[in-house]
Amino acid sequence: MQALLEKTFPAKYTEMVISKHNTAFGVCPHHLLPVIYRISMAYIPTQKVLGLSKLSRLARMIARGPRLQEDLTHELADILHIQLASQGSAVYIEGLHMCMAARGVGAHEARLVTSGVRGVFLELATREEFIKLVVAPTQNSL
Ligand SMILES: [Zn+2]
Repeated sequence: MQALLEKTFPAKYTEMVISKHNTAFGVCPHHLLPVIYRISMAYIPTQKVLGLSKLSRLARMIARGPRLQEDLTHELADILHIQLASQGSAVYIEGLHMCMAARGVGAHEARLVTSGVRGVFLELATREEFIKLVVAPTQNSL
């Protein structure tokens, strides 16, 4: 993961960088059943920018293995804020948990949504802009 994060390039752009709807696979640590994630991430750079394909790879890498969706959300938000020395970061994850689906819960209820914000995204306007960009255009399911 460090190698991946080292390949940054200087930022000329200091607007929000968003990578939307990345599919990643994980495992729920309680039931050891698969989880399909749809991960959206954003950050506002200061000096370093990470390529979009790297963001996607980072998400897949962190999601892999038994891990709580909540922890995945916070870990990604921390990496995009602290390791990239960004102004702030935001992560929004929808998880389709097979353990929930298997219990006969309807597909809609089986989707768990978590989000985490750091830095400038703690400001309501910035957070709302992110959520609007991530949620509004596509309401379709996984
Ligand atoms: Zn579970």
